[in-house]
Amino acid sequence: MNGLHLIGDLNGCRCDPRLLLDGQDFESRCVAMVEAAGLTIMDVRFHQFEGSGFTGTVVLAESHLAIHTWPERAGLTLDVYVCNFSADNSAKARALFRSLIDYFQPTELASHEIDRGDHTLNEPLNASTGFYIKATAQLAERQTQYQKLAVYDTPHYGKLLRLDGFNMTSEREEFVYHENLVHPALTAHAHPKNVLIIGGGDGGAAEEALKHPSIEKLTLVEIDAAVIDVAREHFQAVHHDVFDHPKFNLVVGDGLRYIQESSEKFDFIALDLNDPMGPAEALYSTEFFQHCRHALAPGGALALHIGSPTAQPERVAELAQRLNGVFRIVRPYTVYIPLYGAQWTLVVCSDKLDPKSFTADEIDRRIEQRKISELQFYNGETHEGVFALPNFVRDLVAPRLKTTTRGTRRLGVVSAAGK
Ligand code: SAM
Repeated sequence: MNGLHLIGDLNGCRCDPRLLLDGQDFESRCVAMVEAAGLTIMDVRFHQFEGSGFTGTVVLAESHLAIHTWPERAGLTLDVYVCNFSADNSAKARALFRSLIDYFQPTELASHEIDRGDHTLNEPLNASTGFYIKATAQLAERQTQYQKLAVYDTPHYGKLLRLDGFNMTSEREEFVYHENLVHPALTAHAHPKNVLIIGGGDGGAAEEALKHPSIEKLTLVEIDAAVIDVAREHFQAVHHDVFDHPKFNLVVGDGLRYIQESSEKFDFIALDLNDPMGPAEALYSTEFFQHCRHALAPGGALALHIGSPTAQPERVAELAQRLNGVFRIVRPYTVYIPLYGAQWTLVVCSDKLDPKSFTADEIDRRIEQRKISELQFYNGETHEGVFALPNFVRDLVAPRLKTTTRGTRRLGVVSAAGK
């Protein structure tokens, strides 16, 4: 049902304190304000609490007004909801809300407007920041064995996949994340043949990886078959039918177990996982990074995302330290990812391959030699650019000195900032 919900918490009201105590007096004034706003009253019920405040409800044809006063805090709560079924009553609701606020004169007002009926996809970045994307329709929703999966249709990004309430990928901006996860390491590798992607059930990273012609086999290990099913149904614009590519090899299973049991050696491993929670959490541990290092062929590289340096600095610092303690070369890089609503940190790790040692011209030459096409983001300049770290990110990811019984030693050999 479409409509507008206005919620207000008013505190420190400068009005005459008696206005918060006398429900009977307020009832008639309230009726007059509702009528002045042009809304239609069906019923009015007020309850006076002995020697305290009052609670009142005005039942409207358009829905309702509810009020509860807290004289002891010189405050009250307001709730005005109008459905916009037969007409758009939003302006009337705002007029009533405004007149109530003006009447009680709060020094502090916490108010929220909620457009009921459409979907506001909130993306929490940390306990106190996030961002949102509006969706016009929910196309799928199910609780899988591992997570809550949902698909929405959004005006700006097209179809969008969410897992456990977090944005994963979308039709129109997926290239930013998938190209940057895959190409910096793969293009720096002289001749990648065997690739492993853990997670990435939407197929976007796999599709990008297979643009490198030297790859002979790509294995994707996705724990949740439902993600593959939904990707096949809704996200062809992301995977471009990579699931049917002759070099593509799907394993439905836990990436942790897979890498522990596999004896294969990979030229490139991409961890294309949710944030470190749920089924993905164990795949951000030092132990797992050591497994990945062991699974790399000589000169091979691992790439993964480690979070937002502005919204999740502690996570980025912690994961960078874990990687610094496992790999000889750790190269963080950053890119703004639209769907996450923030600058994001990714990392290429290796014992031999240093993607930062390539010039823009060398990268462009390799892109041309490999006839890699349909790149909407990645090129030689962006390759150089993403590795240029702002000082605050350098500080976050720089190997911390580790004091051991034999004195202080730097974790990792090539520092994150290339100093
Ligand atoms: N970072 C990307 C993003 O946020 O856009 C990841 C998207 S991709 C859909 C993440 C995938 O990792 C999910 O499909 C999830 O099922 C999968 N996954 C999580 N934990 C896993 C595990 N232990 N083994 C294999 N796949 C896993």
